[in-house]
Amino acid sequence: MNAIPARAAALVVLIPAFLAVAPAHGQRPPFTIAGQSIGAGTRLDLDLPVAAGASDPATRIPVTVFHGRTAGPVLALTVGVHGFEFPPILAGQRLLSRIDPATLSGTVILVRIAHLAAFEHRVPYVNPFDRQNLNRVFPGRVDGSQSERIAWVLTTEVMRRCDVHVELHGGDGAEWLEPFVGIYGGVRAAAQYDMSRRMGLAFGFPNVIKYSMDTAAQVDGGRSLNRQAVADGKPTILVEIGENGRRDDLYITAIVTGVENLLRTLRMVAGAPAAPRADTRWFNGTADPASTVSGIFSPVAARGRPVTSGELIGIVTDYAGRELQRITSPVDGYALYGLAGPPVRAGEAVITIGLPAPGPL
Ligand SMILES: [Zn+2]
Repeated sequence: MNAIPARAAALVVLIPAFLAVAPAHGQRPPFTIAGQSIGAGTRLDLDLPVAAGASDPATRIPVTVFHGRTAGPVLALTVGVHGFEFPPILAGQRLLSRIDPATLSGTVILVRIAHLAAFEHRVPYVNPFDRQNLNRVFPGRVDGSQSERIAWVLTTEVMRRCDVHVELHGGDGAEWLEPFVGIYGGVRAAAQYDMSRRMGLAFGFPNVIKYSMDTAAQVDGGRSLNRQAVADGKPTILVEIGENGRRDDLYITAIVTGVENLLRTLRMVAGAPAAPRADTRWFNGTADPASTVSGIFSPVAARGRPVTSGELIGIVTDYAGRELQRITSPVDGYALYGLAGPPVRAGEAVITIGLPAPGPL
C-alpha cells in the first residue's frame, strides 16, 4: 500500500462522516431485476413471473432484493426449491425483518419460495404438474414444463446476477437428516473452492461435505441449482437442516444465525464473524446405497452415527410382508440422512453416508 501524502491525509480528516458513505461520484447505482429497479439503501418485494406452458399453468417466484447503500458482493439466498422443506422457507420469512439495506454493503437477493406450486400443494420432492424434481432440471428451458420454466427464471434472473450463492434445503417430507453444509470444489470449481469453504464454515454446522466437481457429467447430470452455480463459475454452498415436514424453531434459528454470520464473513454487515467451530466433522463425498426393488422400507436406527461396511441399514419387504432385500452399508462412514417413511421405489437411495476425511479439506 502507498503512503498517503500529508496534504491528502489532511483532506481525509476533514471529510465529514456522512460523505464517507455517499462518495463524491454520487449515489450507488440501482440494482435491476425482472425490469424493476431497486435504489441503493432500499428493499423491494417483487414476483419473478413464470409464464404459462403448453400443458401447465403460469406461476411466480416471490423475491426480495435488499440493495445496500454501499458497494459489496451480490449474495443470492435461495429457499424452497423443494416446497415441502419448511425450515429454510420460514427462515427466509424471518430474515425479511433482519436484513437492513440502510446498513448493508452489497446486495442480497432472497428468493423467498422458489417453488411456490410445490409449497402450496404440499408436494415433497417434485412439481405437482409435471412430477419433475426442480433440483434436477437446471438450467431449465424457457418453453419447457413448469419445473423447467421455473429453473430457467432462477438461472437467468437470479444466478446470473449474483456473485455468491447459498442454497437452503432440509430433509424432505419422509426423510431424517443430520444438519450439514455442502461445499463445492474439484477441477470444475477449483477457483471458487476457498470462498465456498469460507461460506460453508460460516454456518457453524457440525458436518461439512466437500463435493468434488471433477467431470462435466458431475456438473451436468441431473443438474441442481448448486451445480448450475458451479457451471456459471459462482462460489456456492448447500445448507441442509430439518426433516420430515417439521418446522422446529431450532432449525429456523440455526439458519438465521448462519446467514447473519455469513453476512459478517462477507463483510456485508459490520461486526467480526464467529470463529469456525473446532469439532467440525469433514466428509469427502458420500455413498448412497439404494433399494433395487419397490416396497416397504424399514430402516435400522443408524442416524447421526458411524456405520461400518456390511452393517445392516434397512430391510425392504413386499406388501405381503415377505423380505425382498437387506440393504447394507458399502463403506465405513457416517449416517447423514435417509428415508424415514415406509415407501421405497426401485433405484431410490435409502441413506446417504458421509465418507470421513482424515482432517479438514
Ligand atoms: Zn431439498
